[in-house]
This record gives sequence, structure tokens and C-alpha cells, in this order.
Amino acid sequence: MLSVIIPSYNEEKIIKKTAETITSILRDNNIEYEIIFVNDGSSDGTWTVIEQLSYDNPDIKGVCFSRNFGKESAIFAGLAECIGDACVVIDCDLQHPPEKIPEMYKLWKDGYEIVEGVKSYRGEEKITHSLAANRFYKIMSKETGTDMSDSSDYKLLDRKVINTLLNMPEKNTFFRALSSWVGFKKTSVRYDVAKREGGESKWSRMSLIKYALSNITSFTTRPMYIILYCGIAVLIMGIVLSIIALVQKFTGNSIGGFTTVIILLCFTSSVIMLSIGVIGYYIAKIYEEVKGRPRYIISSKTEVNNRYKSESTTEKRD
Ligand code: UDP
Ligand code: MG
Repeated sequence: MLSVIIPSYNEEKIIKKTAETITSILRDNNIEYEIIFVNDGSSDGTWTVIEQLSYDNPDIKGVCFSRNFGKESAIFAGLAECIGDACVVIDCDLQHPPEKIPEMYKLWKDGYEIVEGVKSYRGEEKITHSLAANRFYKIMSKETGTDMSDSSDYKLLDRKVINTLLNMPEKNTFFRALSSWVGFKKTSVRYDVAKREGGESKWSRMSLIKYALSNITSFTTRPMYIILYCGIAVLIMGIVLSIIALVQKFTGNSIGGFTTVIILLCFTSSVIMLSIGVIGYYIAKIYEEVKGRPRYIISSKTEVNNRYKSESTTEKRD
């Protein structure tokens, strides 16, 4: 059985169409499936639509978070809930073309354990955005040891990979990179990013910057080393400047200007503050992990609701 995991946040406009498109594709290809919608604390009617969909089609399940926990958590909740032999993670807005699912499924049947959806066309994006994304993926590619420049969250994972991901204790995760990092037999399928079918993107520039920072720090401790190098550079500069100052003093040329002092002061203090900031960021991350809070909190599930509903109807009949 194939589980299709769909993180959904304020997607009431599109969710029904998404469900219909995906079910018809899977049915046409005779793929046994379940669809799991994870409602990530939407403030609109997303959950009501999901409940309705799952009531009409028992192969559609819904998980509802108690608040917005972010896409990563929604994906992991889907992984934990799914019972398929493989799963496909796909966006709710049909930007990841569902027509590719049968192709991924076939590759999985051929023995591949991870089938990555790779963007061949990134869709319409601002130039600053693609530049920043490029830089970010360069760093991540280096850390995971795989080329991530066109990677996305659209991918098929075998049960083995799902269990491996679920057994990882860390909470601050970056699904895209983690599923590259785990290894396994891998292949890819190219796709063009479609236009959003309805609703709007949930990412503001600030949230993307935060997301990038969080993912870089959860994968690499390189920024900490950069601090070390900065420290060494400043130390060398300090030694050189001190020697110059001492020579000037002994040759009687000591200058009255404070320029050097000021530059040095500003420079060192900024480096120190920056360094403390980076270290603080990592400590905050360690703190988050040590607290061991759950990745997400589920407030309700459709299966349970449906069971209640059918129980109450039988009661009425009695
Ligand atoms: N999403 C989510 N939680 C969030 C933000 C987004 O579950 O806090 C889901 C959203 O419903 C969609 C997917 O993640 O299915 C991708 O979001 P979006 O389309 O806004 O991102 P973009 O395509 O602009 O990168
Ligand atoms: Mg989108």
C-alpha cells in the first residue's frame, strides 16, 4: 500500500481538488493507497474539509494538530501515522505534480528505496530568492554529501527509510536534507514546479531566513568554526598593531590619534558579539533538544471521529 502524506496549512480552497486529483490518479493506476492530510493548525476551514473528505472516502485520513507546528512537524506526523509499505510526501497546493506519483511508484517497485522529486523548473521566483536559495543549497549539499540544489520535499520513501527517520531522536529536523543524509538506494524523477492552484504561499521572506538558519545550524557546526577563524584573524591583527604601536612609542613617534584604538575596539567588540550570538544560537538549539518536547501535538484524528460517528448512528438505530 502507498501512503500519500499531505501537510496542509490554511488550504481550504484547494484541498478538495487536491484530494480528487490524487485519488483519481491513484485509482487509474490501480495503486492501493491511503491519503493522510495533516492539518497543521490551520485557522480556516481546512479541518472541516478534511473531516468531510475522510467521511466520504475511508481511504482518506486526517490528523489535526493543536496549533501550527510547521511543515517539518506535519511531515513527521504523517510518517508516524502512515501504514503503507512506502509513502509519498507532497504539497497540498498541487505545485508538486501528482501525475508523477505512478512513475515514482514504479521506480519503488523496481527496487529503489528513495525516489526524489527534483525540480527541473523552479517556477516563477524573484532573483534574490533564487540567489539565496542557491547559496543555501550549496551549504546543505556540502553537509549532506549529496547534490541538493534542486531538491524538494516531494519524494517517495520506502518503509525502511520511514522507520529510520522515525527512529531519529532529534526534533529540529530538515526533512529534505535528512532523507538525503540517511543514504539507501536512491533515484530521482524530474518535475516542473506548477503554479499554486489556490490560496497563497505560507512563507514570508523573514520566515524563509529563519528556516534557512535553523536548517543550517541543525546540520552543521561550521559557523562555530568560522568564529574561531575570525578570532585568530583578529588576534594576528592585534599583535601586528601592538608591535607597530610599541615601535612608534620607542622611536618617539607615538601618535596622539585614537583612530587605531577606535577601529580596534569596534572591530573586536563586534566580532565578540557576533561570536556570542552564534554560540547562543547553538545553545538554544541544544536547549530545545534537551527539553525533549514532542515535535507536534495531535488534537484529533478523523478515524477516531468517524468511529464515534458510526457508533452514535448505531446507537440511534437501536
Ligand atoms: N505548510 C504546512 N505548515 C506550515 C506552512 C506550510 O503544513 O506552517 C504546507 C502547506 O499547506 C503546503 C506546503 O506546506 O502544502 C508548502 O507550503 P507553501 O505552498 O506555502 O510553500 P511554497 O510552495 O511557497 O514553498
Ligand atoms: Mg507551494
